[in-house]
Amino acid sequence: MLIDEIKRLKKEKNAVILAHFYQNAEIQDVADFVGDSLALSRQAASTDADIIVFCGVYFMAETAKILSPEKKVLLPKKNSLCRMAAMISYDDLKEYKEDNPDRMIVTYVNTRADIKSLSDVIVTSSNAEKIVKNFPDKKIMYVPDKNLGLYLKSKLGFDIDVWPGFCYIHELLTINDVKKLRNKYPGALVLIHPEAPLQVLNEADFVGSTKQILDFATKSDAQEFIIGTDEGIIHALKKHNPDKKFHLLSSGLSCINMKRIYVQDVYDALAKEQHEITVPKDIALKARVALDRMMRLS
Ligand code: SF4
Repeated sequence: MLIDEIKRLKKEKNAVILAHFYQNAEIQDVADFVGDSLALSRQAASTDADIIVFCGVYFMAETAKILSPEKKVLLPKKNSLCRMAAMISYDDLKEYKEDNPDRMIVTYVNTRADIKSLSDVIVTSSNAEKIVKNFPDKKIMYVPDKNLGLYLKSKLGFDIDVWPGFCYIHELLTINDVKKLRNKYPGALVLIHPEAPLQVLNEADFVGSTKQILDFATKSDAQEFIIGTDEGIIHALKKHNPDKKFHLLSSGLSCINMKRIYVQDVYDALAKEQHEITVPKDIALKARVALDRMMRLS
């Protein structure tokens, strides 16, 4: 069976499989570790495996490679790309920096390595607030997610400018979605990811990253929840809370690029050691400085 073969290959090659919460359920079940971007970065930095099979999108595998340059990092499907990460280019950010030398560049982890290399610090949705709080007197440019940037600005009241990028699945959420589901499931708590627009976040009972949503639902006495992030998280929520009920805030909450990887792809990647991620050394070194700063501050 394919799963047994994957287990055998993992052992033989000293490999580890990391998967994001937005992956297909079968991938989450085959992974050694399932987490959000921050937890996966920590795993990638600390693992003693020789091979990391990264089940996520390209920027995640690239981040793992920067944090573990001596390891072989494989992305089972090369075309798993984050659409938000494609909304900012190296040349545009470089030009912005030249025009605005007084702005600190705070960069969401959902970016390619060349963008990270131009950044002062990297953040994830789990640690963005905690990290930005360290810079109350700085003028900040938050890239590339305008929604998370505006959420931080409204919460902290700092001087934060935002890049006009967004996550296409969270961007589509509306206040009406929240109203409809609250009517359908009265009493259910609404938990939403901060990549959603600010007006929608203002309707939530709790705003947090995938891991924070999972922790909140697990610790809460409430029995029913409306979830405003990718449907992949429902698998982990149900696994940890078999007696609680979870409803997706909108049927559009499914990132196609996060769903490209299947068990066969994981097997092929491991067996053939294919789709290896590489990052140019000069870019990796600069990006690493911004990532290390994130690790220290989070
Ligand atoms: S869910 Fe949004 S931010 Fe996450 S990988 Fe997909 S497009 Fe990118």
